[in-house]
Amino acid sequence: MNMDNYTEEQPRPVTPLAFKRISQVDYISQQRNDTQSLDKVSYKQSNGSDRSGHRPSVSLRPSLRYLKTIYENKPLWQVYRKIYKESRTVANANFIIHKDKDFEFAKISQRKRTLVFDMDETLLRATLSPELLPDGYDFTINFCRTGLDIVGYVKLRPYLKEMLLALKPHFELILFTAGHKKYTQAILKEFQKDFTYFDHVLTRNYCSVNPLNENQIKDLKLLTAKRSLKEILLIDNKPENFLLQYENGVPISDFMGDSTDTQLLELTKYLLLFRTESDVRHRIL
Ligand SMILES: [Mg+2]
Repeated sequence: MNMDNYTEEQPRPVTPLAFKRISQVDYISQQRNDTQSLDKVSYKQSNGSDRSGHRPSVSLRPSLRYLKTIYENKPLWQVYRKIYKESRTVANANFIIHKDKDFEFAKISQRKRTLVFDMDETLLRATLSPELLPDGYDFTINFCRTGLDIVGYVKLRPYLKEMLLALKPHFELILFTAGHKKYTQAILKEFQKDFTYFDHVLTRNYCSVNPLNENQIKDLKLLTAKRSLKEILLIDNKPENFLLQYENGVPISDFMGDSTDTQLLELTKYLLLFRTESDVRHRIL
């Protein structure tokens, strides 16, 4: 069971107080213009021969076993393609975007580039039912929700700590989850007991809401007071979260608790390729 779906708190008010409605067309076309102007610069500076005029894809670089695992995961690939098309489709849908600009998420790390990780089913699996974790769990968590004391069982994705330790010297690491704050804090209290991997943790309150389906989605613009979109990648098992910044999204398969999962090993090698990228936005296609 995905704890993202639990409703501990009242839904955030969908009012002009906390949010403003802007048209998806305006929002995405604005970003597209930014991206196109940047792409032209990158294209002129590159030696590539991309006929579309966009900068060459990172997929031309070596070591892309990670991408192969994504290509071979047909359900994930299909959703990713769908999001790719939607992100480029002019639709009269309204998106609700965080309006509050007060938070800046100060840059603590000296590293220029930022990796933003989703949590549930990307880095770990948490459930109330240990029988859903046939390979066992690593630790339990306790937190309170709507007056009830809840026990959760958490299985870390294999190689998780190894990956974060390998990436930490090269990137700023941020956690961005649609999970509720108390639940996330309970996990991090145990997971970061000996070492703080993430400079910032954004929970459900920082998600934006797609009013068409009420899905929580992640808007990386929240981080851009101190960073550029050229420097941020979002690794998320739900490609829906790439809708607002498709070029920044790195898909990953769902982690359901399998002890033999090796996605993070391949992901680590893949992400390290971005250490020196002047513009990390890429096209996986
Ligand atoms: Mg997830």
